[in-house]
Amino acid sequence: MDFEVVEQVARLDGWLGEGGVVVLSGAGLSTDSGIPDYRGPSGSARRNTPMTYQTFTGDPVARRRYWARSHLGWRTIGRAAPNDGHRAVARWQERGLLHGLITQNVDGLHQAAGARDVVELHGNLARITCLDCGGLSGRADLEHRLTAANPDFSAVASAVNADGDVELDDAELDGFAVVDCLSCGGTLKPDVVYFGETVPADRVSRAFELVAGARTLLVLGSSLTVMSGRRFVLRAVKQGVRVAIVNRGVTRGEPYADLLIDAPLGVVLPNLARETETYRLLRQ
Ligand SMILES: [Zn+2]
Repeated sequence: MDFEVVEQVARLDGWLGEGGVVVLSGAGLSTDSGIPDYRGPSGSARRNTPMTYQTFTGDPVARRRYWARSHLGWRTIGRAAPNDGHRAVARWQERGLLHGLITQNVDGLHQAAGARDVVELHGNLARITCLDCGGLSGRADLEHRLTAANPDFSAVASAVNADGDVELDDAELDGFAVVDCLSCGGTLKPDVVYFGETVPADRVSRAFELVAGARTLLVLGSSLTVMSGRRFVLRAVKQGVRVAIVNRGVTRGEPYADLLIDAPLGVVLPNLARETETYRLLRQ
């Protein structure tokens, strides 16, 4: 860390120590876990457009191809483990420094690191929902069924996106068999918010409530490109809640940030709110 970043981290550390922090995390927090952020500087630029709700529900061929790609992507996402950044956030929560934890990520890695009460704005890839009966089921069961239904499927993904989708030629997806809801035979979909789909209102209002009650809104690893995340920063500013951002590369939150740290999260976060003896002495 250069000296400017060290100073910034010390300042953020002071704010964290005051408690009342609401964390809003994005894809940049999970890149160290091997899940690429296709918007961030470390991510591969994705070639295909993200699945939209309209396409998923309206186009059976596109839906079949999506499931084939998502089936491959799960091999990466489903095996990903939390990193030091997720562990730091869980530790802050354990110590009572957090007022709330909101994530744009669908990988479940905050919970895997031990965090509780996570507001998952865009859902979770590990849950499957039925569009017809509304039933929820686990991803692992579905993956077993997909594997059984496609014994000869041998495509290999070239790149995995943060939403569990992969890059793959359509030709390789032909013949993939989709499975349906065990209860009603309806259409299954990962319980995540697609492009063109709105975040459920109760989740949004819960997140707004948390921001309203915060001392600090701390954005971790989000470029705030999409309004679904940026609106919480705008709300914080409006309500006089200070905003800190730790993100690698440019962020659209920059005009609103009281503190902006452009440094790797894996370096910054483990250094915040530490309770080592050396650290306490240094802070005196
Ligand atoms: Zn169903």
